[in-house]
Amino acid sequence: MSEPQSTPVRTRVAPSPTGDPHVGTAYIALFNWAFAKRHGGQFVLRLEDTDQARSSAASERMIQESLRWVGIDWDEGPDVGGPHGPYRQSERLSIYAEHVQTLLDGGHAFHCFCTPERLDAMRAEQRAAGETTRYDGHCLGISAEEATRRIEAGGAHVVRMRVPEEGVCRFEDVLRGEIEIPYSQIDMQVLVKGDGFPTYHLAVVVDDHLMGITHVLRGEEWINSVPKHVLLHEYFGWTMPQQVHLPLLRNKDQSKLSKRKNPTSINYFRDIGILPEALVNYLGLMGWSMPDEREIFTPQELSEAMDLARISLGGPIFDLDKLSWLNGQYLRALSREEFAARVVQWMLNDERVGQLVPLVQERTEKLSDLAPQVDYLIGERRSLSQEDFEALKIDGETCARILDHTLRALDELREWERDAIFSTCQQLSEFLELKLRDYLKPLFLAVSGKHVSLPLFDSMVFLGSDVTRMRIRDALNVIGVSKKAAKRLEKNYAAFAARATS
Ligand code: GLU
Repeated sequence: MSEPQSTPVRTRVAPSPTGDPHVGTAYIALFNWAFAKRHGGQFVLRLEDTDQARSSAASERMIQESLRWVGIDWDEGPDVGGPHGPYRQSERLSIYAEHVQTLLDGGHAFHCFCTPERLDAMRAEQRAAGETTRYDGHCLGISAEEATRRIEAGGAHVVRMRVPEEGVCRFEDVLRGEIEIPYSQIDMQVLVKGDGFPTYHLAVVVDDHLMGITHVLRGEEWINSVPKHVLLHEYFGWTMPQQVHLPLLRNKDQSKLSKRKNPTSINYFRDIGILPEALVNYLGLMGWSMPDEREIFTPQELSEAMDLARISLGGPIFDLDKLSWLNGQYLRALSREEFAARVVQWMLNDERVGQLVPLVQERTEKLSDLAPQVDYLIGERRSLSQEDFEALKIDGETCARILDHTLRALDELREWERDAIFSTCQQLSEFLELKLRDYLKPLFLAVSGKHVSLPLFDSMVFLGSDVTRMRIRDALNVIGVSKKAAKRLEKNYAAFAARATS
């Protein structure tokens, strides 16, 4: 496996630009990059932006910036171009349309006119009977002529793929050997949505093929989708790229790494002063160990040693303490000049200081007043205790509610800007029947570690969404929420969310 291969190796990372740049994306990118480099091949960045409602240009930009920040570059991609472009799926719609037509013509796909109500009822029935919910084939019998007539009459529809009723899908995963999944577990997947956009499954198969991808290294959460991809390859008469499903990153409690429990955005690690070379090194330790077991290495060294057989499948734990330790190793190895340069790059630069000035200038008598006012903005905030919250004279349950609901609402916020944060908090304070002033007290404490601090919403904007949310999460842990109370909080928040969307 470690010998250079005869066909040029081509790998890709295919993030969906729907939020913060996730460490999982950098992890998958790193292994694809290293594998391609090891074999003298190419590495492609493709943006899977077929979810129109959730994709954003800001997320796209952050993904590219953050990958470059950790030192991963690509041979082909939306910004650098290449012979297999466009590399943004929303710009490839005509390619998908052509391929769907081939599937329809071959009888491998069909138009489905089922209404959401019918599909809901179908699923409810299946659930009641204890079955897995899947499409029941209702529209399979519609002839091509009838489908055309209904489409011309403006009938809302999607395109679904055919899936055999029986039999087993068998495929090879380079790390796991043969995997078998019965077709009875596979849904007649929607390939083209009502808005005319392809779904992931169609786009990924078409693009990997047309872009000449030879090895697909991606997270193990995609294994169950492979049978759909196997079928689509058969329908098109194409050969599958090799499948390599890397182990998922996990929280300390073994659950899938999630922003509910851990910071997951690369921006967070940048903002707290983790060096990019330490972060990328740490990601290289996820499921991988160097032949000589050394823990400090560069992406280049990783690529030179890259051998898929060395990847271990036990879920790697993304451990912030271990990352900090590694970062310390890197920081201490810097020269004095380089260390100083990093501090400037990180925070003590015109841009960051410039963002602080409007918050502090009016509140300052001497320049030296500055540091104590902004300590929690440029450094970690002090640790909190239960007594800190008791001193607020707001009962524990209410405090927990405020923090929990704010955290949940901020998790869902798409734009991290002052007005949006403010209006979220205002709505929540009304929902909780609290004066805004009281509602904000525990938040001031959670964010700044102080009872009186610089303006809260500006502080949150300066800190960024990840650091802010991490601090609120930490405050909730300090208060302590029992399992029973957590259930109540969840239910109560659901009532707020339902009210907010109605
Ligand atoms: N767009 C998918 C994602 O966001 C890509 C999965 C794949 O690599 O096939 O993870």
